[in-house]
Amino acid sequence: MIYLDYSATTPISYDVLDSFDKASKEFIGNPNSLHGLGVKSRELMNSATKQISELFGVNESEIFYTSGATESNNMALIGVAFANQKRGNHIIVSKLEHPSIYGICSYLEKLGFEISYVNHTEDGLVDFEDLKSKMRESTILVSICAVNSELGVRQPIKTIRQIIKKENPNVYFHSDMTQALGKIAVNLKDVDLASFSIHKIYGPKGIGLLYKNNMVKMAPILYGSSKKDLRPGTPAVALIAAAAKAIRLGIQDLSRKEIFIRKLNEKIRDEVSLLDQVVINSTQYSIPHILNISLLNIKPETFIHAMEEYDIYLGTNTACSSGEISSSVMALYNDKKRASTTIRISLSYLTTTEEITRFLNCFQIVYKKLNYLMENPTDYE
Ligand code: PMP
Repeated sequence: MIYLDYSATTPISYDVLDSFDKASKEFIGNPNSLHGLGVKSRELMNSATKQISELFGVNESEIFYTSGATESNNMALIGVAFANQKRGNHIIVSKLEHPSIYGICSYLEKLGFEISYVNHTEDGLVDFEDLKSKMRESTILVSICAVNSELGVRQPIKTIRQIIKKENPNVYFHSDMTQALGKIAVNLKDVDLASFSIHKIYGPKGIGLLYKNNMVKMAPILYGSSKKDLRPGTPAVALIAAAAKAIRLGIQDLSRKEIFIRKLNEKIRDEVSLLDQVVINSTQYSIPHILNISLLNIKPETFIHAMEEYDIYLGTNTACSSGEISSSVMALYNDKKRASTTIRISLSYLTTTEEITRFLNCFQIVYKKLNYLMENPTDYE
């Protein structure tokens, strides 16, 4: 099998699975229980939180556990909107966000919040002048994805923060860092809130994080037994222990991994760009882990399934919106054909050079066959 859909999700690392397994077997108590078993589980959870907060250089009280980045994004945007509505009702997001952010924005719009979509340069970077001009007295939050999930475009988060805070220091800055963690260095000092999903960094599915600076006012979006908990319910102790392990391992050796992945990316890019109906959508600001291309003549589903025959697994825009056109490619190129024929090849440090050689051989075969059939449709009969 050749798996090239690492940005959709990653296989769990055995070390992480081991932590999950041990914690599940040995820490059976509910961390909210007062007895010894509960206390033991609470201690494990607290030590995982301490480890995570140290790895990120933040306070333990600033880490919240969620089910994944979709929930973290909901907590951040809805929670901040509700808690700060007396101050204002205006939120700014980019046009290169994950679909979950747009889903939340349309919900907030129905409630009377106003959303502005900041423009970007032709390479996908947030247009700083447009961001400045969109900020108003009533702006309470700006949310910009650190690395776009479809094109891999990486935003200059530190500079964006400086621009926002210079215009108005009371405006909070949230970044969806789901595709950044484990691929590039993330610095939580650059943001007030950040979202993560642990299954993107070789951890289990069903656990995410929200970082929220202690100064940020945020209302809960879930209500339960505890009045002071921003995310009530029984904490998933074993998933939390696994998350700490996944983060510790996931942020190691990033530049060495990136150099290797860049070589693989260039090998693919050099070869596929020679094909006449193939265009590269990733830009000069895309991280090498994500290579987005359009096969202008071929339906992505058809291509993906044909590659599957060779036991090769690729992505079409995001796994979360399969079948639809790529909102990011549409935002960047304003070309429906290009946006409806995208393939996302996402790489990992686990990917081998041999896998890429085989992938490229199969790509050529499948591409030529499907392209021929598109140009000679009568041969179908
Ligand atoms: N944000 C980004 C940038 C993502 O890539 C994803 C996953 N595709 C999400 C949010 C949502 O993560 P999850 O499905 O784990 O909730």
